[in-house]
Amino acid sequence: MQQLLKRIHFSLRMLHRYRHALAKIYDSSPRHLRLDQVSIATLKLKGVAVLVLDFDGVLAAHGEREPAEDLVPWLEACINSFGPKQVFILSNKPLESRIAYFKRYGVRCIVDVKKKPYPDGLQKIIALSGQAAEAVMLVDDRLLTGALAACIAEVSVTYISHPIVLLSKRPVSELFFMTLRFWERGLISLYGRLG
Ligand SMILES: [Mg+2]
Repeated sequence: MQQLLKRIHFSLRMLHRYRHALAKIYDSSPRHLRLDQVSIATLKLKGVAVLVLDFDGVLAAHGEREPAEDLVPWLEACINSFGPKQVFILSNKPLESRIAYFKRYGVRCIVDVKKKPYPDGLQKIIALSGQAAEAVMLVDDRLLTGALAACIAEVSVTYISHPIVLLSKRPVSELFFMTLRFWERGLISLYGRLG
């Protein structure tokens, strides 16, 4: 509980510091972007060498053990294009089943780091990949966790504005996260416009 309060306090402090950057990320993002609409070729053209994927909402609905089946072709194309050592999974819920799934591809899940929005996971990835922060791209569906961590670590971010939601399977947690996303978008839209 104390850690959660600390993380909330840190998030609010960083939200204040990076409010303009977050608003810019949100404003410049397409409104209904799904992961498989992200062009791997475009990322490469932009100079992205390391791709970091969030899990919940991005690769699957909340709490799922493995990525959604219809995203596997995109995921495999991504691993082929970047190489397994330059693709990372950074989830605040690094479940064993997820780690085992990606291990088959040689893709690493980051564990034992402070949760986003702490930049620790991204900093660990920068160190492991041997690339500069500018060559790293995080793909995430949350502004106050993933996108904020990216701002702090100075890495680029692709905001998934149309996350995967399976309301019928986990109505309580999905509604909770839908509310969070709605709230954080509104907050950042308003707060980011303040001086
Ligand atoms: Mg997520």
